[in-house]
Amino acid sequence: MIDGFRLDGRRALVTGASRGIGRSIAEAFAEAGADVALAARTVPDLEMVAEAVEAHGCRAVVLPLDVRDVASVEKAVAKATEALGGLDILVNNAGVYFHATVAELTPEEFQLVIDVNLRAAVFAMQAARPLMRDSGGGVVINISSVAAEKGTPNVYGASKAALESFTRGADRDWALDNIRCVAIAPGMIDTDMEAEVMADPARIDPVIASTARRRVAQPGEVAAAAVYLASQSADFVSGAVLNVDGGRSANY
Ligand code: NAP
Repeated sequence: MIDGFRLDGRRALVTGASRGIGRSIAEAFAEAGADVALAARTVPDLEMVAEAVEAHGCRAVVLPLDVRDVASVEKAVAKATEALGGLDILVNNAGVYFHATVAELTPEEFQLVIDVNLRAAVFAMQAARPLMRDSGGGVVINISSVAAEKGTPNVYGASKAALESFTRGADRDWALDNIRCVAIAPGMIDTDMEAEVMADPARIDPVIASTARRRVAQPGEVAAAAVYLASQSADFVSGAVLNVDGGRSANY
């Protein structure tokens, strides 16, 4: 049964693979046996992740990419597929958070959050579909957030709610090509994105108090869920959103 969790020979593309959750997912995929294409803007960080992937005996491809540029996203999907000889797994993880409230929000910030958190994922999926179909099927994992369900006083939660809705809708249609579309909704994870919040007791303490597990999580705890969802063991998990939030969505 445990072999069903392995990803030997699978070919994955992970966006936002330079640090945080994306880096952890890329390394966990390699530990499970997958070759991984790594996309983000910070090439030296991607090269370090590539070394970690290769240390597991898997192939790594570094793809410099700003996901705000849709044409580059499409090219990155094509390049990953060409370099790895096919595409079985796409993880749309690159994301941005803006702490500005609605009152402070500018049209530029609105656009940035929507472009990175939603538009990039949609067009990466569009580009990946025929390539995954040619590979016999695949899995798309979109990294959402507990904020999709609970909302945030800015546009971040709305961008993630839209991403979850798109994931469910695509899953119904893409099943025709043997492609599962799923999402992971993390709670508070110890990464650069939340460093400011975590350093401020007035902001982090209420979050921990509203988390059943009474702690934040490490990126590897999200990566473990990604390995499962990408694997054959999750073949019947389709159109689903998996909360990895320590009980936060159930508790506040
Ligand atoms: P992070 O440490 O800030 O990492 C963000 C990643 O996204 C980096 O690899 C960054 O790479 C990449 N990225 C950002 N803008 C990009 C762009 N324009 N083009 C290409 N890559 C871009 O954040 P994280 O916490 O790991 O977040 C990963 C995902 O999890 C995000 O979707 C986030 O919304 C979600 N999430 C995080 C938490 C949390 O508590 N941390 C909770 C719920 C959901 P470069 O800067 O090198 O481009």
